[in-house]
Amino acid sequence: MEQLAVFGGTPVRGTPIYYGRQCIEQDDIDAVAQALRSDLITSGPRVEALEGRLCELTGAKYAVVVANGTAALHLAALAAGFGEGDEVIVSSITFAASSNCVLYCGAKPVFADIDPETYNVDPEAVRRLVTPRTRGIVAVDFTGQSVEQDTLQEICREHGLVYIEDAAHAIGTRYKGTAIGSIADMTCFSFHPVKTVTGGEGGAITTNDEQLYRRLMRLRTHGITRRQEEMAHPTDALWYNEQVELGFNYRMTDFQAALLLSQLGKLSKFSARRKEIVKRYDQAFSQMPELIVQREIPESDTTRHLYVLRLNLEKLTCTRRQFFDALYAENTCPQVHYLPVYWHSYYEKLGYGKGLCPNAEAYYESSMSIPLYYAMTDEDVEDVIHAVQKVVEYYRR
Ligand SMILES: *Cc1c(COP(=O)(O)O)cnc(C)c1O
Repeated sequence: MEQLAVFGGTPVRGTPIYYGRQCIEQDDIDAVAQALRSDLITSGPRVEALEGRLCELTGAKYAVVVANGTAALHLAALAAGFGEGDEVIVSSITFAASSNCVLYCGAKPVFADIDPETYNVDPEAVRRLVTPRTRGIVAVDFTGQSVEQDTLQEICREHGLVYIEDAAHAIGTRYKGTAIGSIADMTCFSFHPVKTVTGGEGGAITTNDEQLYRRLMRLRTHGITRRQEEMAHPTDALWYNEQVELGFNYRMTDFQAALLLSQLGKLSKFSARRKEIVKRYDQAFSQMPELIVQREIPESDTTRHLYVLRLNLEKLTCTRRQFFDALYAENTCPQVHYLPVYWHSYYEKLGYGKGLCPNAEAYYESSMSIPLYYAMTDEDVEDVIHAVQKVVEYYRR
């Protein structure tokens, strides 16, 4: 860490600024406290209200709220019917959960390369990977920017694939005016604290398909149903419920739902501020040839979850590691999103090897996410820009 002698000696700011952070205000706390005083504290009326709110926001017919985003992906993959012998095409630059959900079902993830400028999955790479064993795709709206929905939908229609969208980054984003959540067969959301709105933990699946909806609802609670038409031994006895398949307990509590209902009321202000910060960053960094700004497709009106700083390494004397450590020493704490999923040692053991997705690998070697969250002040934003500038100037070739 030799650069510590230069960076961090006189920090640009006193307190570290992290890449993401929740915003919890007094009314959020009041909503949770009120929920805790009610009779039902596990899934109750607030979970139902949250499902209604998500339908309104996304335009989807149905929403199923679950414990976290990973549970949402797991249930979506099960409801899609993925299983032994099936292949599912997955974005290569994403959080491991997007691909783990395929493994949970016994199916095989097949990694598609990214577009080198948008960092979203390249639809043509997806098309090339389709085989007679392909059953579906899991496409990630990386950083919040919508994937190329039209082409992906066309590929799915052509080959009879189930389209699962991992929109963990993308609540509030629209594609050609349509809200994310009503486009894919199933769209999965996460409400982890670094995401745009949070429930502490939390997730949801939205869909327009009633069959999928019924299946998701059942799988969320052990595979148990109270609907006579789903039973092998129907009865109208009030106490009777029947487990008809193997499910899970993936319920969300009512106090988390209370927090989320309160947070969703702030989505437009959260979204507007994120857009403002992204605009300021883009403006500052597009002036520096040592940096590459993420390309935004005109179809996507994006609520950005992550701001990716990509280095043009040919114009810098440092490695990504050195740049990262220097920013860190300046109290601007970046993070890298993400290791190509198949580089994780678990995937390596499954037989995936380096070289599979060259664009994803080049992206990984040159990128990091810098702070982006609602509560950043203008001063915070300028501090980050100054820290980046300082590091760029030091390592300029
Ligand atoms: C956060 C995230 C998930 C997982 O969500 P959890 O709620 O943490 O389980 C899945 N996919 C992506 C792309 C994510 O960013």
